[in-house]
Amino acid sequence: MPLKKLGGSSRKVMKYSPFKELSMPQSLVLPRPFDAHVHFRQGEMMDTAVKAISEYFAEGLVMPNTDPPVSQPGDIKLYRASIMAAADNEHFHPLMTFKILPDTSPSDICLFRNAGAVAGKVYPKNMTTNSHDGVENYPALFEVFEAMQEKNLVLCLHGEHPGEDIDTLDRERKFLRILALIARSFPRLRIVMEHISCRQSVETVLALPENVAASITVHHLVLTNDDVYGQNHHFCRPVIKKRSDRKALVQAATSGCPKFFFGSDSAPHSREKKECPVSCAGVFAPGIVSLPRLAQLFDENNALKSLERFLGHNGRRFYQLPDDPKKLPSLALIKEKSAIASDMGGVVPLCAGQTLPWRLET
Ligand SMILES: [Zn+2]
Repeated sequence: MPLKKLGGSSRKVMKYSPFKELSMPQSLVLPRPFDAHVHFRQGEMMDTAVKAISEYFAEGLVMPNTDPPVSQPGDIKLYRASIMAAADNEHFHPLMTFKILPDTSPSDICLFRNAGAVAGKVYPKNMTTNSHDGVENYPALFEVFEAMQEKNLVLCLHGEHPGEDIDTLDRERKFLRILALIARSFPRLRIVMEHISCRQSVETVLALPENVAASITVHHLVLTNDDVYGQNHHFCRPVIKKRSDRKALVQAATSGCPKFFFGSDSAPHSREKKECPVSCAGVFAPGIVSLPRLAQLFDENNALKSLERFLGHNGRRFYQLPDDPKKLPSLALIKEKSAIASDMGGVVPLCAGQTLPWRLET
C-alpha cells in the first residue's frame, strides 16, 4: 500500500521563512474499496443511496430487503439494471443477493446463481427493516443451505436471535450458537456474519473455521451506546454496544486478519423517518464519510498499513472476486481536514457537521 507525500499545488511556503517549506500532508493511494453491505433502496431514495456508494467503491454487495423483497430469481436482473442506471458509472459493479424466506425452495438456488446472484441473505423475523417475512426456524432451511454450498453461493446472516423474551442487547450473542451450528453442518459453505457488534462475535468468528468471516461497519467501530441515547440518527440494528465491544471490533478490523472486512450497512432514511417517536433503524455512512473516518481510526491505532486489507483485499478474497489492484481505479485519502455536511439530500449522515482530520480525493 503506497504511503507518499503529496506534491504540486499543495506545497506551501511559510510567510517569514521563505526557504522553509512546510512538510507535505500524508496520503494513501488505494484501489477503490469493496463495500460488502449496502442498501440501495427503491424509488426516490435510490439515487442518493446508489451514488453515495458507487462514486467511491469498485463493488457493493446489494442487500435484498427492499419492499417488495428481492426474493425471486427474476428480481435479480431487474434490480441490478435499475442500480446500474442510477449509478451511471462503468467502474462500479453491484454484486447481487437474494432474500432467503421461510418458503425459499432449494430448487431455486441454481436459478438465483444463473441470474447473477453471489449470495443469499437471511433476516431474523421482525429484527430489522422489512423483516416481517424473516426466519425463525433455521434448521428448516438446511436444504437451502446445502444447495447454496453445492452452488458455491455465500450465506449472509443478520445475526440476531429472533423471538420474544430476549433482550435486544443479547440477541447477537445468543445467535452465535445458530452460527456455529450452520458452520459445523456445512463446512464448505462460505458464511458471513454481517455487521458484527459485540466482543463475543469477534471471538466466535475467529474460533470457527476459514469458511466463516464477518463484516464490520464504520459506526460500530467509532460509536458506543453512549452515542445512541437521545440520538436517533445513531440507532441501528444490531444496536451499538459497549466500549469493550468496540475495542474488540477495532482490534479485529485493524489486525489485518482475513476474516474481517468492511461492510458499511449504509442505510439512508429521511430525516422525518429518524426524527420521530419510532425511529427507523439504520445509519447513513456514504463513502465521503466512511472512508476518511476509517483512515482516522486506523491512523489513531497505528494500523494504516492494514487499511487496504480491511477495505478491499479481505472481502474480495472471501467473495472470490478479482483482486488485482492494477486493474482497479484508485482513490486517495489525505491527512487534511474535511468538513462533513449536516444534511445530504434530506438524510443526516454519520459524523454530520463534524470536521474530520482526513479527506477523500477521487
Ligand atoms: Zn443492512
